[in-house]
Amino acid sequence: MTGNPQKTVGEALAAARQALVPVSQEDAAQQARLFLCHALDVSQSGLVALSACPMPEAAQKTLDELVTRRLTGEPLQYILGEWEFMGLPFSTQKGALIPRQDTETLAEHALSLIKERGYKTVLDLCCGTGCIGISLSKLSGISATLADISAECLSLAQKNAARNGVSASFLQGDLFDALNGLSFDLIVCNPPYIPTGDLASLQKEVLFEPRLALDGGEDGLCFYRRIAERYKAYLNTGGTLLLEVGIFQAEDVKALFENAYVLKDLCGVERVVAVQI
Ligand code: GLN
Repeated sequence: MTGNPQKTVGEALAAARQALVPVSQEDAAQQARLFLCHALDVSQSGLVALSACPMPEAAQKTLDELVTRRLTGEPLQYILGEWEFMGLPFSTQKGALIPRQDTETLAEHALSLIKERGYKTVLDLCCGTGCIGISLSKLSGISATLADISAECLSLAQKNAARNGVSASFLQGDLFDALNGLSFDLIVCNPPYIPTGDLASLQKEVLFEPRLALDGGEDGLCFYRRIAERYKAYLNTGGTLLLEVGIFQAEDVKALFENAYVLKDLCGVERVVAVQI
């Protein structure tokens, strides 16, 4: 994939797709399109119109760099520096977990609870990029507080709130540590939940993500136990706690709480435990 001024945009796309197959498999075509859009600074629909145009040399160089990074296993979402969650744009960087579609199950349920019950305040605990709390605030107008142990995540979440025109509060601390005296109608949390022993065998891409956001202790349930001990002091009467859980964890997590139910994601996996008080 050396720069070839004769190449058309369409040919550059085909070459990038082919180069990406070993790491991206069936997603190679879509990932090549996204990289090319990034390199040319055009939208996906704009790309179609450029297919027969000559590929600019600078864009080819950028495209080669993006593809080379991807071939190391680095996730597309870090290379592009942004990803969509709930239809909104979020900046991504290596210190924070990449927003995932799985987590939209939790966000969708949160939106229906906000509407049905008139919730006014939400806490996004272990906020990472801030994608849950910021999208809830943007889409429902709820007042959001975001907390994380990582200063890097909080500054990224602040950037993401500004990017989406959301004004929110940001607090740094381990779980509830920075929240003394505050309480909320809704608490949402996607804590680290991978059992420590499983971390080494995860997909290559996931290993680029921060261990701090993934490692849920020996059985993966360490954060749920800590949350179960403390959440009541931070949740208003009639409020709800929504927790994302990993595959096969829902029943164990549900058992840690008194009044809980489980929700499935679009693939039928039990993905969210909801707790009411
Ligand atoms: N959903 C992520 C994964 O399985 C894990 C995120 C988390 O631990 N909260 O890769």
